[in-house]
Amino acid sequence: MNRQDCIALDARDPLAPLRAHFDLPEGVIYLDGNSLGAAPRAAQARAAQVIRAEWSEGLIRSWNTAGWFDLPRRLGDRIAPLIGAGAGEVVVTDTTSINLFKALAAAVAVQARHPRNGGRRVIVTERGNFPTDLYIAQGLSAWLARGYTVKMVDSAAALPQAIDDDTAVVMLTHVNYRTGYQHDMAALSAHAHERGALTVWDLAHSAGAVPLAVDRDGADFAVGCTYKYLNGGPGAPAFIWVPRRHQVGFATPLSGWWGHVAPFAMAPEFAPADGIARALCGTQPIVSMALVETGLDVYALTTMAAVRAKSLALTDLFIDLVETRCAGHGLDLVTPREHARRGSHVSFAHPHGFGVMAALIGRGVIGDYREPALLRFGFNALYISHADVWDAVEILRQILEHEDYDVAAERSAVT
Ligand SMILES: *Cc1c(COP(=O)(O)O)cnc(C)c1O
Repeated sequence: MNRQDCIALDARDPLAPLRAHFDLPEGVIYLDGNSLGAAPRAAQARAAQVIRAEWSEGLIRSWNTAGWFDLPRRLGDRIAPLIGAGAGEVVVTDTTSINLFKALAAAVAVQARHPRNGGRRVIVTERGNFPTDLYIAQGLSAWLARGYTVKMVDSAAALPQAIDDDTAVVMLTHVNYRTGYQHDMAALSAHAHERGALTVWDLAHSAGAVPLAVDRDGADFAVGCTYKYLNGGPGAPAFIWVPRRHQVGFATPLSGWWGHVAPFAMAPEFAPADGIARALCGTQPIVSMALVETGLDVYALTTMAAVRAKSLALTDLFIDLVETRCAGHGLDLVTPREHARRGSHVSFAHPHGFGVMAALIGRGVIGDYREPALLRFGFNALYISHADVWDAVEILRQILEHEDYDVAAERSAVT
């Protein structure tokens, strides 16, 4: 395998033309789309349209005339096919942290009302889950779900055994942010159900990265980000999925007016909307939310099967090139090799991880660093090429060979 071979693969890649839909800077190989996706070219014009035509001209009329009020549901219906959900089951709203709070609170409440499961008081998760997920579960049990405990297991292998007759809810992130490990959603959901527990899945590193079938795989609730693989823009609103079978029983402590059955009746008592609208809380950041559509428009040009096929080709190629061309330089693969257990990012441990990543970024290869000592590289199949993979590994090889680590790099507030 050489650079020419990579260029030949790109020439045959059916997704290669999609890169033109993104505004990526010259001289940068962007391997951090798992943290903040690239900007769709259409985003600028859409932002200008929302600000000029819809806000400046339309003013408050735009809640109706520009479809602002319906945007959370309309965008949710566009995310639904990407995660294997039905129409009317997803809304784009709030943040992943807040949606997780709502989903977890709802799941705990469903269980508390259950004739046989009402006494269960444990939320099972992984110690290696993304911190906000753990903190949200801890916050819920400290304030609202008093008497509940958050049980953190140390490995995916330990999960099945940890789910028992005390488990109310199993809360997992489908693809681990650090290692790229992908859980078997169908098997774990089935196991949880057999034991009488409900499941809440965080799809932050899965939506737009791997094909998902939340409904078929038996998940109960799910949340996820739009600003990672889905390219919705920095801080863009997240999404929440509540399947039809759970919608009637779905209630959250954040019973805001957007979740009311008749928001403009301005009634003093809360009454939940029918359907997925009850997962909404309050007024949304419309400028930001409007840009989510420009990212989804690019996904509409392909299929998740095609995205997955290319993503696996890129991550396989990256692992193979790093292990052959950077051999002997202390890199350790922490991401599973097995396709079914891998998401769309790859992490390698290195004793000088932070300095190596700082040097890479200095040379235009943008990945990121995660404690402890992990170099993390995300591959969005919509805009990363095989030649990018070759070039990134070549720059990594040069840095490692000359021990050209940027040890003096400052740790910024965001890493
Ligand atoms: C990125 C990520 C989040 C981010 O949550 P915010 O509320 O958007 O800050 C949450 N959970 C997981 C698993 C993530 O990877």
